[in-house]
Amino acid sequence: MDEATKEAVEQRAAGLCEYCHLPEAHVAIPFHVEHIIAKQHRGKDSAGNLAWACLRCNLQKGPNLVGIDPKTKKITRLFNPRRHVWARHFRLEGAILIGKTAVGRTTVEVLDMNDLLRVRLRQELIQQGLFPS
Ligand SMILES: [Zn+2]
Repeated sequence: MDEATKEAVEQRAAGLCEYCHLPEAHVAIPFHVEHIIAKQHRGKDSAGNLAWACLRCNLQKGPNLVGIDPKTKKITRLFNPRRHVWARHFRLEGAILIGKTAVGRTTVEVLDMNDLLRVRLRQELIQQGLFPS
């Protein structure tokens, strides 16, 4: 992947993890370019297959494309930042991210978006007015 593509992906995300909406400016660990469809599934290096993601979301997602919806127990696709609208699939309840749809619930689960450290960080950022609402 060339540097121009990486920069375009970063700029498009406007400083937020495209999965959990964590603002990069307030996190010590730099964000990554994430392949929505992993290279091992023949995902491309083009901007249409790339997302800007925090380290935790990137590692948790890995090459996964689907997960098990915790409500219906059905195999469900993960959130795709290039195809899905974030607010349609997720909402905040305090510092907890809630999946509003099967895609949202499954993505919250697979990406472990409500692990204790992330909830605490989100809580701090919300209190300081630094987390996007
Ligand atoms: Zn994230």
